[in-house]
Parts: sequence; structure tokens; C-alpha cells
Amino acid sequence: MATALESSATLLDQLTDGQTTSLRLTQDCLDRIAAHDTAIGAFLHVDSEPALAAAAAIDRRREAGEPLGLLAGLPVAVKDVLATRGQPTTCASRMLQGWVPPYDAHVVERLRRADAVLIGKTNMDEFAMGSTTENSAFGPTRTPWRLDCAAGGSSGGSAAAVAAGMAPLAVGSDTGGSIRQPASFCGVVGLKPTYGRVSRYGLVAFASSLDQVGPFSGDVRGAALLLEVLADHDPRDATCADEPVPAYRDQLERPLDALRVGICRDHFTEGLDKDVDEAVEAAIDVYRRLGAEIHDIQLPHARFAVACYYLVAPSEASSNLARYDGVHYGARSDDYDGLVDMYCRSRGEAFGAEVKRRIMLGTYALSAGYYDAFYLKAQKVRRLIQQDYQQAFTSVDVIASPVAPTPAIPLGSLVSDPLQMYLADTYTISANLAGLPGLSLPAGFSDDGRPIGLQLLAPPFQESRLLQAAAMHERETQWHLRRPPLAEDSS
Ligand code: GLN
Repeated sequence: MATALESSATLLDQLTDGQTTSLRLTQDCLDRIAAHDTAIGAFLHVDSEPALAAAAAIDRRREAGEPLGLLAGLPVAVKDVLATRGQPTTCASRMLQGWVPPYDAHVVERLRRADAVLIGKTNMDEFAMGSTTENSAFGPTRTPWRLDCAAGGSSGGSAAAVAAGMAPLAVGSDTGGSIRQPASFCGVVGLKPTYGRVSRYGLVAFASSLDQVGPFSGDVRGAALLLEVLADHDPRDATCADEPVPAYRDQLERPLDALRVGICRDHFTEGLDKDVDEAVEAAIDVYRRLGAEIHDIQLPHARFAVACYYLVAPSEASSNLARYDGVHYGARSDDYDGLVDMYCRSRGEAFGAEVKRRIMLGTYALSAGYYDAFYLKAQKVRRLIQQDYQQAFTSVDVIASPVAPTPAIPLGSLVSDPLQMYLADTYTISANLAGLPGLSLPAGFSDDGRPIGLQLLAPPFQESRLLQAAAMHERETQWHLRRPPLAEDSS
């Protein structure tokens, strides 16, 4: 029987030739969620009945010979940071608990128009701030490979849902690594597009100059397919680029001739786990065997990326999250004495500790007297980081690196040590600061069976190149075909 553990291309073939139906596939996903999600915690809302009804309607249209969209009948899980008409959108925060948006995010509209079945909303760190999903107000997400370890974050629910076969495809958002890092922790493909490639309309803002929406899939082809659906020009997001969207899947089989892969060895810092180091070296060897040239590159300002990001992102967050005051938006405290007390109590009660920390950091960095020393300085460093990449891409086509310094980390191990948690973002955040597309693909396992991802970066709007390079590696390896033991149990 077809299950969501198969690739999206296989599932689409099976749907087209009648071996399965969208209703059966959707039911299989719902069964897996029912069997395993108490342990994993990937979903905050499962939209069972509407999803089954949507699947049945697509099956009927298929039978009637009507033309169907690119995702015809495939279940897709959506991170709870995206507005979904008729489905709750909480950002994993008590602040938005119970909110059902009256409108769809642009990407959600695109999914519906592509005839995807929207199966539910996935867990995340509160307002997308975090790296383990432990900052969710509703409990963490565990990687399906090891239930004592985090699925990563902040899009941990989307990554875990795909890894566990609860949905063949999922959507996440990435401000500093939140698609790529959970993809690595869960052994799936995750792609952060170029800033401006995908509309942010209806994406609840964390740091507006860094946020991007992107796909999760079990394989590269699925990521290419979902990106074709998500990417387009949307005038409702002023930063959304008016660039043609290539047919990403058409180029996948074509290997890149004379591929030049850049590696920045100086940036492989001391804290890099041995298994991750070996997996990245093995992946680079795969490219070498395929005839690629491997070049050492310099990214002189990369070591400032964590400091720079943790000024820029909290500054933007402190401004974006000002709207949750219990009046314009968000939960209002039941018990207060006057207007200012109402603001204080509402925000004090409904935001979690990490969100409060970011608001305070950002407010401080933007305050009079500190603005020049912190925020402005960080913006200047951001420009230098961008220029490093521009320079590097004059001599290489893609840059390869680890995604995270370690495989999935045990729950509870970093959550009370914010600085160590921030430092673990070292490989992912500079792509956001520079606006570049980045992808994480399965590249190995630690000795104790936790997946490890390889990160590839490309110049702006070169998602095709990124996907082609990833497909070259995928064809040579079997990592993406492994399934977590738990997911296999119920098939
Ligand atoms: N871990 C980073 C942070 O906490 C990135 C989060 C994200 O990409 N949304 O800010």
C-alpha cells in the first residue's frame, strides 16, 4: 500500500495510475499521526475531517478527468507560523492560542491551488525562536530517530512529520536555520530559498529581513516540486522578487559540469562533532569522485555571524512582536489594573522565556545611545558577511559545510544555556544574513544512529543549481532511503 514514506514522485505516479487514492494516502498519514504523534509531538493541530473531505473531492475530480494542480492529492503539513483560513495558527505561543485566521498566507493559497491536502499545523519553537522546538508552549518535538532527542528547530514539527511518514511534504520557515537544521536532525531534505523568492504574506513575522518560507521533503525531487509551488511573485510582500520561477525538477537529472565546490575550513570550528566532520568529508569525497573541483575558500567575517544575527534578529523581533499587546493582537490577561498593567500582564503571561529574552535583547540594541554601538554595527557586519559570499562565489558554484555542529541533541541539554544554543546556529545563520539559498540533505549517521545533514549554499536565485548539486549527491548515496525505526513499525 502507498504510504507517505514513499517519495512524492512515486506517490504522484501511483495517484495518476490509480494504484492509490488521495483519500487512502491521507488516511494513512492520519493513522501514522494517531499512532506516533503522542510520542513525537510533530503536530499542534490535525485537520482530519476537512483533509479527508478535500482528498475525496480531489479523487472525484481526478475520476471526472478534470485537470489537477502540481500536488494533486498529496498531503502537506504546514508550520504553525503560517496563517491558514479555518485552521488555528498559534506560532506555538499562548499569545495566539485559539486564533483562527480569516485568511490564508500566500503560500497556503498556492498549496490549495496546487490541490494539496492540508493535513494540519506543525509544532515549532514559539514565534520560531529556538533550535530544538523546546520553546514551544505546547511541548517539544522529538526526532523520530531517537525519542530522547530534539527534532531541531524551529520547524521541528514539519521535519519530524516528513521523517515519520505523517506527510510526504511539509512547509517550514527559516530565519537563521530553522528549515535546514531540523532537516539535518530528522534526516530529510530542507531548503531555505533566497530572500525574496517566496512571499512572506501571512507568515507571522519574526525577523522580517531574514525570514523565508521553504519546503521539506524526503528527497531532493520533492523539495524541487514543492518549491515550484511555493515560489512566485506576490505584490502583497514588497520584498518578494519579480523573478521567473524555473521548472526546478526539469534540471535535476542533469549533473553540473565542472562543478566547483567551496569549503571554508577555518569555519569548521573546534566544537564540531567527529561524526559530523566525517560525514561532511565523505560527502565532499562524493563530489570529488563525480569530478567536482574542491576549493578552499575564505569567509573572513563568518565568525561574527552569530553575534551579528543575535543583534539583528532580536531587534526586528522586538519591533514585530510589539503588536501583541492584548488589544491589537493576542491574548489579554484576565486580571489587570489600568492600561499599562494590562499590557504588562498580557505580555508577561502569554510569552515564553525565550521570546521575552529576545524582546529585551532587541529593545536594548535599538535603544537610544546603544543603537549605533549594537544595531548599526551589526548591520555593517552583515554587509561584510554578504561581501564575503559574493567574493567566494566568484570562484566556486556552491559552498559545502556542516548544517549544525552536532547531530540531534538530547532534549533538555541546551535549553537552559541560551548562549550555547545560539552558538550552535553558526553554520546556518550567515545564509540568512546574506539572503542566500541554502539546503540541507541527508549525508550520514552518527555511530548511535542519529542523522547528519550536509549544507549547500548557492548565490541568490540559484536554487536550481543547489537542487542539481544535491541531486548529484543523492544519486550516489543511500542515506535518504533510510527510515526511522518508529515510522516503519506501522506500515
Ligand atoms: N535558531 C535560530 C533562532 O533561534 C533560528 C531560528 C529560525 O530560523 N527561525 O533564532
